[in-house]
Amino acid sequence: MGAWLLALALAACANESVVAQDRATPSQHRADGFQNRYTDFEPRGLGALLRWKCSAWRDGLPPAPQAATPSIVPDLGLIQSNARAGARMVPAVTWIGHATVLAQLGGLNVLTDPIFSQRASPLAFIGPRRAQKPGLWLPELPHIDVVLISHNHYDHLDDDSVRALARQAGGAPLFVVPLGLKAWFAQRGITSVVELDWWGSHRLGALEIVLTPVQHWSGRSLTDRMETLWGGYALFAPELQLFFAGDTGYSKDFADIRARFAERQGPAQGGGFDLALLPIGAYAPRWFMQPAHVDPDEAVRIHQDLGAKASLGIHWGTFELTDEALDEPPRKLAQARTAHGVPESAFFTLAIGQTRRLAPRKPQR
Ligand code: ZN
Ligand code: ZN
Repeated sequence: MGAWLLALALAACANESVVAQDRATPSQHRADGFQNRYTDFEPRGLGALLRWKCSAWRDGLPPAPQAATPSIVPDLGLIQSNARAGARMVPAVTWIGHATVLAQLGGLNVLTDPIFSQRASPLAFIGPRRAQKPGLWLPELPHIDVVLISHNHYDHLDDDSVRALARQAGGAPLFVVPLGLKAWFAQRGITSVVELDWWGSHRLGALEIVLTPVQHWSGRSLTDRMETLWGGYALFAPELQLFFAGDTGYSKDFADIRARFAERQGPAQGGGFDLALLPIGAYAPRWFMQPAHVDPDEAVRIHQDLGAKASLGIHWGTFELTDEALDEPPRKLAQARTAHGVPESAFFTLAIGQTRRLAPRKPQR
């Protein structure tokens, strides 16, 4: 029982409980780590976690899904040939599961928050277990140029997956991480790492990568909370502009992101992000999750705040982290689209393993 509780406390993003207060000073740095711009996060620890878990156990939550998360055989021919196409690369995204997406843009193969392990947990034998196998296994991936890490929760920064990618044939990818995480990689002998503060950027070939604020937190144990930064990523390639939110609650940060990039995303520049990868799962119960994890309705509001042309719902259907059924997020997303007048083509989900090609931006004068 003791180990079970400890694993619960350590595991993944389910370990999230916060007290929200208005903040006047939008600065993310503080003496002992980092903080959000519009909300104070005060993780409440084991007491609230146990209260949540006891009520979930009493109520039989989460309910079993009505259907397995859709999963298809990936089009490895398309993915691999596109990976080698260089300047002729067709912009495309492939959902591998949870927050792991292969994004092909700017002639580069970019992987977000890679997790291929059986569990999102510090322990191999306990913690949230994978309900669906990855859309591609690690050996099926093309050579990865860039890995984006949004934050250090177990379902986003997976030790085994990072180590495997660092050993890939042809050399390690570049790992782009928020402030404070370079040391974690150095401890594993991985040095191809760029660490960014919010609004910091790094250019690799045709691709510019910018870390953006989102509302979340960090921590891999009970003693390192908020010590490393978290964030989302804006990617700017000539033919595509992509946003990856990582984990986030709903906040004014997304209106700020739109304002920040207004000059390069105005109508004359082709408009907002061509695609936003937004989390739609791990939201129940709201009293516990709301400040740190959006529900589908809030995800649609983020889609609108960003002015994204389209959004892909991720962070669902893979690991049972919270109280909603694994297959509930797309149903709630459909309701939210209706409520906000957003067509399905503008905010969709994919099957695990499915690739979506995206229309390239028209060259700007
Ligand atoms: Zn997460
Ligand atoms: Zn998280």
